Amino acid sequence: MNPLFTPSLHTQRHDFVVDFVRRTNPKKVADLGCGECSLLQKLRFHRQIELLVGVDINGEKLRKKMHRLAPISTDYLQPPANQLCVQLYQGSVTQKDARFRGFDLITSIELIEHLALNDLEQFSKVVFGYMAPQTVIISTPNSEFNPLFPGLLGFRHNDHKFEWTRVEFQSWSLKVCLVFGYMAEFTGVGKAPPGQEDSIGFCTQIGVFHRLMMTNRDGHMFGNNAEVEFPYKLLYCVTYPSLCDNNILRKVLVSELLYWAEKLTKQWLENLAVEHEEQIPVERDDRGGCEFGEIFWTNPQELQCQPLHRHVSVPLHLLWNCCPKLSELSGSLGNMRQLIVDDPQVKMNGQHSAVIICILEQELEDDDPNDLRDSGYAEACHVEPEHWETDD
Ligand code: SAM
Repeated sequence: MNPLFTPSLHTQRHDFVVDFVRRTNPKKVADLGCGECSLLQKLRFHRQIELLVGVDINGEKLRKKMHRLAPISTDYLQPPANQLCVQLYQGSVTQKDARFRGFDLITSIELIEHLALNDLEQFSKVVFGYMAPQTVIISTPNSEFNPLFPGLLGFRHNDHKFEWTRVEFQSWSLKVCLVFGYMAEFTGVGKAPPGQEDSIGFCTQIGVFHRLMMTNRDGHMFGNNAEVEFPYKLLYCVTYPSLCDNNILRKVLVSELLYWAEKLTKQWLENLAVEHEEQIPVERDDRGGCEFGEIFWTNPQELQCQPLHRHVSVPLHLLWNCCPKLSELSGSLGNMRQLIVDDPQVKMNGQHSAVIICILEQELEDDDPNDLRDSGYAEACHVEPEHWETDD
């Protein structure tokens, strides 16, 4: 068919769903007849979604592009707080599968017109009566638009079993609403030319169905609980990295903590250099709410000191105060200590109250033309000079 629309009709249909998701924040979303998973690929970026599931009768189609649903590098670099699980099944929407109950949103984009009328009836029972999600979005061609496609005779696709006018779609929808306890709103994508919007309607018609009550007409929530069946075949399942995973949480926390410990150490060293040059006594510094006076040179007995290294002690509570992300990640100073204490990347003092940053002497010399080692700055620190001199 000619590409009459920009962006394409396919894109506009998926964008309609994406926009709906953005506005309503569903946690569990399933796409029926997901084909090559292009809608799922867009939805996986909406990280308030915790479960994203697709089903299609055609396993070949699913396999073709399903690996595009795998996490990418940024998913590992910036893992969000909540977990996302993506699953793909091969199966028919005319069959009930218990794993598809309890969803917030189920979409069926350009699927129903591929079903024979008896299968369509089964589809309504399965989707509205058994899966019974909070919301269903169904899109299907509007046959009133067809005369605008140049040279189109018959249906838009040779596998279509029907194409409905707006009245046909709406009367089917309203019947479904009545039977299964939903209400529907109608809209669409793919605008008709100016002046013909009302007489023709959208190229793709869309029904948005909202469940009215927690129970269906028979008084069962999500259908009859005796029917626990799993006919769909799981083809793909991936859990995205998230802060729910303790190992990932620890990694992110440690990298944030070390970043801040090194940043504060650098600022403290710069301060020392300036103070030395200007003969200013070392005092508290309130830049960024941080107390530089609490940072000091140390000679930790617990650590295997490397020759040519110096050590700086940066208290945990100082890091906690300077970096709000640390409290977001760990909740309390105690939790944070517990999470980092055994991490091989983090060196801590004996009381586990401070992070120890190692600095190569060479780096100090490179950074500080005044050579802080002989400048008397140690008097301003909390450690006796001879302690660290024994390190050298
Ligand atoms: N929803 C996708 C999209 O928007 O790109 C694909 C739409 S495609 C026109 C229709 C899809 O429905 C096909 O992938 C087809 O395999 C699938 N399909 C047809 N009958 C089905 C059934 N009974 N159960 C599940 N999927 C079915």
